[in-house]
Amino acid sequence: MVNITATLSALITANHVLDYLNVLDPFGHISVRNPNNNSTFFIALQMGAAIVSGPKDIGEYLIEDGSGVNGTTGGYAERYIHSEILKRYPDVNAVVHSHSEDILPYTIVESVSVEPTYHMAGFLGDQVPNFDIETVYEVNDPRDMLVNSPRLGAALASVLGTNTSQPTSPLYTTALQRGHGFITTGTSIEQVVEFAYYATSNARVQTGALGLSAYAGLGTGGVKYLSSDERKNSKDMNIWISFKVSMLTKKN
Ligand SMILES: [Zn+2]
Repeated sequence: MVNITATLSALITANHVLDYLNVLDPFGHISVRNPNNNSTFFIALQMGAAIVSGPKDIGEYLIEDGSGVNGTTGGYAERYIHSEILKRYPDVNAVVHSHSEDILPYTIVESVSVEPTYHMAGFLGDQVPNFDIETVYEVNDPRDMLVNSPRLGAALASVLGTNTSQPTSPLYTTALQRGHGFITTGTSIEQVVEFAYYATSNARVQTGALGLSAYAGLGTGGVKYLSSDERKNSKDMNIWISFKVSMLTKKN
């Protein structure tokens, strides 16, 4: 059995790190699968990441339907993002949902895709899909852009794709949400924090490079992104780094 106090402590620290790094605004969130019960997950109750201060601020929810367990009531309306990703992909143990302003422009300019610009963003792979909630709205759904039901959460989770060689993992680590933000997934809290930060960092670098390229009179053509092989090998390195960080965390 894993010490849940240590898991919750890591989740609280991750909330603070992601707030400090401007990855999470007060309405973004990070979750982790219960290491002792893979049918539930932990996520902060409805509060800004900066002020999550103890186990009393963490809720536990069923992955099956996002309902609270062990005394948890209420919580984030968008917790179904987490429950449905964790349900669809058993290898995913941690999820971040962010409204990063660095990423948002790429969610609404359809002709410019997110591409890995440097080695720390190799995990973005060959494609970062863009989920458009408009395509899955039903007649009576409010058009508030929120992924606030299991049905909408499942639709969002599905854009991460099917990895035919390993169906328990998503094909893509990360996806955009049109006019809303992005999601990223990992096998640990440390890995998903790394991916969430470098997704936003990469967007800043890409935006700067696209601006320089245009200034140089080259349109978007002056930007050289990582090759397919560089993306794959850098992703392996990104995963290795998060594993090393998680080992360091566990020693302290
Ligand atoms: Zn949101």
